[in-house]
Amino acid sequence: MTKAAGRVYLVGGGPGDPGLITVAGVEALAQAEVVVYDRLVNKRLLKLAPSDAELVFVGKEPGHQALSQDEINVLLVAKAREGRRVVRLKGGDPFVFGRGGEEAQALAEAGLPFEVVPGVTSAIAAAAYAGIPVTHRGVASSVAFVTGHEDPAKGDAAVDWTKLATAVDTIVLLMGIANLKEIADKLIAAGRDAETPTAVIEWATTPRQRTVSGTLAGIAVSAEQAGVGNPAVVVVGEAVRLRETLAWFDTRPLFGKRVLVTRTREQASELAHALTAAGAEPVELPALQITRRFDAQRLAKAIDALRDGAYDWLLFTSANAVAIFFEFLIERGLDTRALRTSVAAIGPGTAAALKSRGVAADVTPSADAYTAEGLLAALESAEMDGRRVLLPRAEGGREVLTEGLRTRGASVDEVTLYVAAVPEDPDAEGLRRLLAGEIDVAT
Ligand code: SAH
Repeated sequence: MTKAAGRVYLVGGGPGDPGLITVAGVEALAQAEVVVYDRLVNKRLLKLAPSDAELVFVGKEPGHQALSQDEINVLLVAKAREGRRVVRLKGGDPFVFGRGGEEAQALAEAGLPFEVVPGVTSAIAAAAYAGIPVTHRGVASSVAFVTGHEDPAKGDAAVDWTKLATAVDTIVLLMGIANLKEIADKLIAAGRDAETPTAVIEWATTPRQRTVSGTLAGIAVSAEQAGVGNPAVVVVGEAVRLRETLAWFDTRPLFGKRVLVTRTREQASELAHALTAAGAEPVELPALQITRRFDAQRLAKAIDALRDGAYDWLLFTSANAVAIFFEFLIERGLDTRALRTSVAAIGPGTAAALKSRGVAADVTPSADAYTAEGLLAALESAEMDGRRVLLPRAEGGREVLTEGLRTRGASVDEVTLYVAAVPEDPDAEGLRRLLAGEIDVAT
């Protein structure tokens, strides 16, 4: 029996901000068996594909020869013929200067099924993230997306600059940096006002976004002086003036700051989200790694005693301890009913970890005393003489709590749950960026 033909999804990955892919694009990626992607695609989107998906890079990068368009077409046809589900992931929109049309033609000729998932094109997103609406009532009623790839001085007929110059209100140029001077001259020669506001937006929608603005006559020199390079979008038209009041993305308080996040991978996301919302780029380099490490028999015995009501207190000194303790409980088919005891948490994070598992801590230290000493103080009024305390904890932690409680006559059983140590295999990308001096602030 022959295998069913595969299917190719031509998916727009958006201009850079990974949040700008569509829901349909995310779904296609989640089902992908093969992902064929370009240079301008945000690599974080690749994580949306199953971990066993084959990832094929076909772009140009230092030390990597790009596949030609024909080779890409052949590759897509071959993968689909193997019966595989292929996502062809492209920057921006696949049908806006993305050569997606040619890939669709190749698939159609080969009789292979495909779907097109549009993306947010950089032509619109770059302007939007620079605070420029490409149309605006009373200011701009038309917009054109134009390739600046061909040098107009060479008399190439692909773009009729003379007709375009005065035909539309907003002109958005893609791939226009190399020929910007010639293009601007041509537009002015054809009747476009030399004073027309113009902006160049580099690495739009990313933490590296940079905007250079000026007039049509002066923009090429300004862009060159600023050292603007690819990828960049050029926006020409009166609407560019609106940026003065509508800039929002690059005006956020931490915009462009690269902030090292050293929390454990599991705990990093809350801080990373807050940083992103303020405009910063979080760079994760976990300085601590939590590894479960316990004597399962010993832990099981302690939990049995807990279920028998043999302990008066169960103390948690970290959210990690809560997480691992409950994982163990659940793995053994148990639940919160095993906790026939009073419970204390060292601080609000630990208390929240307990609460999310349905346990309200009986004791938590008062504000700003989230330490072993603080917890001891919080337990001051509890009778400890002759009481039994279970303390699940990290290997090699401090002894303050145990000693303090023993002094007060309690019998304390410590059980190790985990080790918190420097990761043996630090995040390569985070480390590279730190060593390359690419970090502005470390947390
Ligand atoms: N299909 C893509 C365009 C591919 S052509 C889309 O719809 O956006 C490549 C050109 O896109 C670049 O030369 C640049 O002009 C533009 N571009 C893509 N991503 C960009 C970004 N993040 N910032 C600025 N320009 C970008």
